[in-house]
Amino acid sequence: MKLVFATHNQNKFEEVKLVLPSHIELLSLTDIGCNEDIPETANSIEGNAVLKTEYVRNHYGLDCFADDTGLEVAVLHGEPGVYSARYAGEDKNSEDNINKLLHNLTDKEDRSARFKTAIALSIKLESVLFIGVCDGSITKEQRGEKGFGYDPVFLPEGYKETFAEMSLEEKGSIGHRGKAMRQLIAYLKEG
Ligand code: IMP
Repeated sequence: MKLVFATHNQNKFEEVKLVLPSHIELLSLTDIGCNEDIPETANSIEGNAVLKTEYVRNHYGLDCFADDTGLEVAVLHGEPGVYSARYAGEDKNSEDNINKLLHNLTDKEDRSARFKTAIALSIKLESVLFIGVCDGSITKEQRGEKGFGYDPVFLPEGYKETFAEMSLEEKGSIGHRGKAMRQLIAYLKEG
């Protein structure tokens, strides 16, 4: 069975390919000749994941799945949320995003936050959404060198290390993307 993962991120693609059941032939956007960035114009994380699968289905007629992730900070009413990648501007700079977040949380006592990943799957006429959430809080300073994005300031609930101080395996076992991905894999294994 052929299935497109609607991403241009090669790291994500390889990571996912490793854990999918062997009856699935995973194709990237490049593999199907899609070199443009799929517009992410929805106003929710779930909406953007669905938009990406619809784009692949409408333009290429192929079964596919897509993911979208956001960091939701309670005291900022869920911001940066769907705008996580471009919180500090269109150039999607993680350092600037983190600095803006820490600035907006100056003097705030409640620093609780959560990561949310939505994975939309579109197989034939069937559409399914999987959601993975990781609760935690935003630290006052950056800690750790690993990971990407907001990892150096995200402290998962019940842990003393930020995501950027954890191994990939540990982050994967408790993190938002891992949780959503395991639901997708279980679903595909059933089918
Ligand atoms: P995407 O939907 O996976 O491209 O994620 C959107 C943005 O959310 C990224 O550009 C990062 O800023 C942030 N982000 C997503 N996943 C993570 C994560 O696991 N750790 C830290 N930041 C993340």
